[in-house]
Amino acid sequence: MSEVTCNTIGDILPLYVDGVVSDDTRNIVAKHLETCEKCRKKYEAMKSEVVIPVEDNVAPLKHFKKAWKRKKMILVCSTILATIAVIFCAFFIFNHFVYQEKIAVNGAVYTQKGENITELPSGSTELGYLRSISHRSASGPSADFTATNLDAKYAGCPIYQSEDSQTVYLKDYSGFYIPFELTEYIAQEN
Ligand SMILES: [Zn+2]
Repeated sequence: MSEVTCNTIGDILPLYVDGVVSDDTRNIVAKHLETCEKCRKKYEAMKSEVVIPVEDNVAPLKHFKKAWKRKKMILVCSTILATIAVIFCAFFIFNHFVYQEKIAVNGAVYTQKGENITELPSGSTELGYLRSISHRSASGPSADFTATNLDAKYAGCPIYQSEDSQTVYLKDYSGFYIPFELTEYIAQEN
């Protein structure tokens, strides 16, 4: 291609500045700019014209987009966490009130309550041994010396009763006494 006129370069220059020209065109323009000061000045002016608004206007927008994205992320994360917390609490409450640890002795049901103790209160008497444990039971034990929702390892452990019959204690293998408080009487079936 012979010499390109400054007018032609002027027409292409905006596209050249935007970087949307073919490699051939870019080479032609670049070559011309090397030799023609007039067009080079025009190019420099155009370049700075384009670059300045981009930096001034897009940067805050980008920042805003970033901040908005971060806010959205925080919102999504906190929603997920809140949902998990609610499910966890609901599960815990459900388990705690529905599948309570209970022992039946002498026609009454005792529900586990309070901290384990290391020594029995004076006047407590041994009643017998825990015979069986049923799991995931919401209704509670119906037969004497049976329990619900206790760990299977407690089967066979001795059961003690306080003098006032309000509390029974299950003796743990490690020597602790697990307290159960009287909560209800079993409806006798005979
Ligand atoms: Zn020129």
